[in-house]
Amino acid sequence: MTRPNGSTRRWRTLRASVLRSNPMCAICYLRPADCVDHIVPLNLGGARYELSNLRPSCTPCNAARGDGTRTRSTTVNEPLRTSEDWLNPLRTSRRW
Ligand SMILES: [Zn+2]
Repeated sequence: MTRPNGSTRRWRTLRASVLRSNPMCAICYLRPADCVDHIVPLNLGGARYELSNLRPSCTPCNAARGDGTRTRSTTVNEPLRTSEDWLNPLRTSRRW
């Protein structure tokens, strides 16, 4: 069965093998990885099941990176989102 979020058995197996061979986050190298990130995002044509397109990441890095359109930065000077953004899902989209 294929689920819309891509959590197939194939994906879980692949994800487990990535995490087994690379237990640390490949983005910050500080925390143990508990997610697998697509280097080239799926929405940009990245291969979902290609090992060369996968890297381990920790939850904070994975969440900060979002769909890969944001660049990585540890000290962000960007102002926090205001409540207006939260009330306006169309503007916020899913980049967070
Ligand atoms: Zn990390």
